[in-house]
Amino acid sequence: MLRSLSKLPLGARPWAPQARHVAVLRHDWTRAEVAEIYHQPLLELVYQAAAVHRSGFFDSKEVQQSTLLSIKTGGCGENCGYCSQSQSFKTAVKPTPMMKVDEVLEAARKAKDAGSTRFCMGTAWRGVGQKNSFQHILTMVKEVSSMGMETCCTLGLLNAERAKQLKEAGLTAYNHNLDTSPEHYPNIVSTRTYADRLETLANVREAGISVCCGGILGIAETEEDRIGLLQTLATLPEHPESVPINALVPIEGTPLGDRQIAMGKGVTWRDMVRSIATARIVMPHSMVRLSAGRMEFSQEAQAMMFLCGANSIFTGDKLLTTANPKFSEDAAMFEVLGLKGKKPFSGNTAHLRPAELKDEDLAQPADAAMMAAARARGEGPREVAF
Ligand code: SF4
Repeated sequence: MLRSLSKLPLGARPWAPQARHVAVLRHDWTRAEVAEIYHQPLLELVYQAAAVHRSGFFDSKEVQQSTLLSIKTGGCGENCGYCSQSQSFKTAVKPTPMMKVDEVLEAARKAKDAGSTRFCMGTAWRGVGQKNSFQHILTMVKEVSSMGMETCCTLGLLNAERAKQLKEAGLTAYNHNLDTSPEHYPNIVSTRTYADRLETLANVREAGISVCCGGILGIAETEEDRIGLLQTLATLPEHPESVPINALVPIEGTPLGDRQIAMGKGVTWRDMVRSIATARIVMPHSMVRLSAGRMEFSQEAQAMMFLCGANSIFTGDKLLTTANPKFSEDAAMFEVLGLKGKKPFSGNTAHLRPAELKDEDLAQPADAAMMAAARARGEGPREVAF
């Protein structure tokens, strides 16, 4: 349907003229084209993105629930200006050693029982250094994958050999955000370059692991930077399978967090809607993940984000080191909006399902009964300690 609509003459499309951008899977977007989409009147943009989201590739009622666990927190040698885990900044986060394999698997089981269908493991470091740590991570990936969940890791810079080993262990996706435009990136971090990030993304892609790559709003970027990020992502050799859109959660002690606290205003729901909707239009087959910062947005605002194409959230009380809505609150929101969880290895990840996983092995998304029970209790069914 995407392609057939794009072949119609403009006048024959109900939402022309903006519809010339609708439903086209392209890798040659210019920055001017992305800017034209981004700057449309807000409701026109929402309508267009909602049309793309309903054009057949995704079930627009499905929103994937994912869990993100920090398996090694704090003490990071990089200096990302927004991050509480960098050792360059004085924050309340204390460095802790890597979690044990059993602890991580226990957390994964709880996440699965709570209806998560994707389990992400994050480490605060520049890249995997020690061989021992990497072996532990390979074991975690293998075991979590055998639980029938999609597995994702965010471990920093990654070389081709290690990407291959992660693939062999069963990793579904690797998260490595570009954060912002190439021009603004040096203002955010000085310990690595945009080119370093792109190289890791290429290693991941070449290993056959799906790429999860997005950005953060609220890091002193301009709208041109937001557009530049989306254009960069939409012109990669393959669109990322997954595009997280984060809103900065300002942490005292970090340069960008302190800046936002001093300004007294953060990312607005309108900023989020524009970025999510534009991402949906220029990358129509990618999961768009409404990620950090959800606590700041009302359920009405989140509803508009789902309407225009966000189709994943992180559930659980914490997201790495910052607060996240309770599972029961999300359950109530899903019920009101008529949303349901997404099965693992469906849609754009169907081809990544390990051959040995049978239908009955797959994690089951949170169903209506599970959500109603959580809502009645007023708390999440999970007790994952982050
Ligand atoms: S690499 Fe990750 S953990 Fe380290 S400072 Fe940057 S965002 Fe934080």
